[in-house]
Amino acid sequence: MSSIFGPVHSRRFGTSLGIDLSSSNKQCNFDCLYCELAPAPALAHQHTITPVETILTDLKEALAKHPAIDVITITANGEPTMYPYLDYLVDEIDKIKGDIQTLILSNSACLNEPDVFTTLLKFDQVKLSLDAATPETFKKIDRPAEGIEISIIIESITRFSHVFEGKLFLEILFVKGVNDSLSEIAALERALLPISCDRIDIGTIDRPPAYAVEGLSFEELYLLSCRFDPVLPIHIVSRTHANATPSRYTDEEILTTLDKRPLSMDDIEALFDFDSKQRFKNLLEKEKIVQIERSNVIFFTPIENINRKRSK
Ligand code: SF4
Repeated sequence: MSSIFGPVHSRRFGTSLGIDLSSSNKQCNFDCLYCELAPAPALAHQHTITPVETILTDLKEALAKHPAIDVITITANGEPTMYPYLDYLVDEIDKIKGDIQTLILSNSACLNEPDVFTTLLKFDQVKLSLDAATPETFKKIDRPAEGIEISIIIESITRFSHVFEGKLFLEILFVKGVNDSLSEIAALERALLPISCDRIDIGTIDRPPAYAVEGLSFEELYLLSCRFDPVLPIHIVSRTHANATPSRYTDEEILTTLDKRPLSMDDIEALFDFDSKQRFKNLLEKEKIVQIERSNVIFFTPIENINRKRSK
């Protein structure tokens, strides 16, 4: 099976060509409740290893066929940082990628290993998962291999965020009744505040999960996002937008809502009913609401919010 897939288009990352570093079977140091792949015991190491030369040959062929690529995304049926030749592979990709960005999607579990830490610094963009901040919830949701501790992961992400020069994204996936309690959110907030990142994507289950667990509705996700300190650059990513029930908002409610948590156009489409969307447009025309960009995603926030931050 080829280790290259795509191109796929994502609004967050652009047109991406994917490299799967475990294309024949799932090899992961987690066994997350919500994984889209079948359940499998968490492993300490990869057992089936694709040769670097095979990946590079496939990649060169794919790049010749699809020249209009924004990003080469390194991922896996499992955890890509478990691939033992990742450092060499990134160096080789750098030699042929031209202006294309490199991105890795990681569960963060190996970031405390000095080799992995140094290798990830070579990427243009890094996306790290952090689903929990307490040991109990971490073990329940991510079901890690023995010896992986959430306190060490949080410490490594924080350290990495202060030296990494590229774009850093964090991702939290919420599972109903598992990591959405007030105490877990408070613990996550404490972990996130010292981390320097471009965006924190929060989402929920939107594909059949490995185990019998449920996702949150868009409204639940939105309410949960409001519990985090507004300084955190949180963005709701969820296909559950489509199932949301729009509500009526007055001008003042629109401004207060956006002040608490800037929203994207998709969020507004999902949350506001027809008349509220008209009111939102009027506020935008009167420049009481302005656009801000956070790593390819446009958000809307009251001008007052920007002025307040500028005057601090
Ligand atoms: S880290 Fe990703 S691949 Fe591994 S078990 Fe969790 S969701 Fe699945």
